[in-house]
Amino acid sequence: MKYVSTRGRAPVLDFADVLLTGLAADGGLYVPETWPALPSGWDAPQQPYAELAADVLWPYVDGSPLGRPDLDAVVAEAYATFDHPDVCPVVEVEPGLHVVELFHGPTLAFKDVALQLVGRLFDHELARRGQRATVVVATSGDTGSAAIAACVGRPALDIVVLHPAGRVSDVQRRQMTTVDAPNVHNVAVEGTFDDCQDLVKALFADVALRERIGLSAMNSINWARVAAQIVYYASAPAAVGPCDVAVPTGNFGNIFAGWIARRGGAPIERLILGSNSNDILTRWAGTGDLAQLGVVHTLSPSMDIQVSSNHERLLFELLGRDGAATAELMGRFRGVGAVEAPSDPTFVAASLDDRATLDEIADLHRRTGYLADPHTAIGIGAARRCRAGDPSAAERPVVCMATAHPAKFPDAVEQATGVRPPLPDHLADLFDRPERYDVLPADGAAVAAHVERCVAPR
Ligand SMILES: *Cc1c(COP(=O)(O)O)cnc(C)c1O
Repeated sequence: MKYVSTRGRAPVLDFADVLLTGLAADGGLYVPETWPALPSGWDAPQQPYAELAADVLWPYVDGSPLGRPDLDAVVAEAYATFDHPDVCPVVEVEPGLHVVELFHGPTLAFKDVALQLVGRLFDHELARRGQRATVVVATSGDTGSAAIAACVGRPALDIVVLHPAGRVSDVQRRQMTTVDAPNVHNVAVEGTFDDCQDLVKALFADVALRERIGLSAMNSINWARVAAQIVYYASAPAAVGPCDVAVPTGNFGNIFAGWIARRGGAPIERLILGSNSNDILTRWAGTGDLAQLGVVHTLSPSMDIQVSSNHERLLFELLGRDGAATAELMGRFRGVGAVEAPSDPTFVAASLDDRATLDEIADLHRRTGYLADPHTAIGIGAARRCRAGDPSAAERPVVCMATAHPAKFPDAVEQATGVRPPLPDHLADLFDRPERYDVLPADGAAVAAHVERCVAPR
């Protein structure tokens, strides 16, 4: 399998190169040259998740230095870290409504499903090349802990995570700062999440530093993260049959993996996109208008996003894989903040504000006893709204992607239901563990010097 850039002017690469490269040299995102069908037997009942994952991923990896036995081993190791035997179990919460629990990994959010694999793939490929890398991440909460869990103890990797001081929840901060390992470095930046992102961008812009410490990103535009997510869009319909799938959406990475699985033959009728008040994608799905507004803070912070980086991969498809047209459209969007983009009737969408999100959590709990986190509730609420207007929907179940454990957002869940969800056993002592982090001003030179000091001598 070869990969091309959505903007058509970057080198064609194999999987291993795409893994380590992240963003393409022309500013685009890498996508496979062709979309493979799901492997035969994808819908076999009761298949172990790791085996299905290796089968689904193999066509995307084939042709790179990563061999099939390596892939099998890395995948098996990645999913052995999950605390449920099914890895991503499908739970029927009421007749016709299923959730896929994507939160059984080490940090209780769906990003673990991809990052537990991607951290190991990075380590494996860097070791093969005799290289090390420094992963730098800016986080407003969830991504940091999932990236740390992906890198901790990996010999070829150091990780530095910047979070805005005092602006992440206690659970989120502690999930990052209580990881005690020599290759994990946390920095509380005296500033906002945007400051953290700008500081990371400045590090990447420093070419000499970038080379010296092997600066690397593991962010949501990384193709391998999207690829890892295709698997549960096969395992869920394998369990429940033809269905609609609802996904709470921020950067469009998760739901785009659903589009890929559908294209590869998964019997997914509609992809239902749920947004919070940052509803740019909901507006796009209805009209094709892509118009950026200011970011508002909500109870579902992992979706407080206005520019959904992975959306470009779909737009490239909808523009007939025309890289020049995609580059032109994205350039105009970045420039003026609003464009007419192509849309796709596979996607239907609804947005829920915080009030509606809390109501959804409360109603679901009252009806079924199930506790959904605010992100998950947005997917479930979007499914109800979109399917209410579609008479054919009654004939098929809906599968909702549960992207975070309710204990990750205990305040919102308690506010809605009166029940405070407990942390699972492996995190039960989170508030007793010592924290370790440095505090730095939002200053490029100070952060660059600190990052360089953190990195093991090489
Ligand atoms: C990251 C995240 C999302 C959004 O996923 P995208 O791939 O960015 O659309 C939704 N819910 C939770 C809990 C997340 O951490």
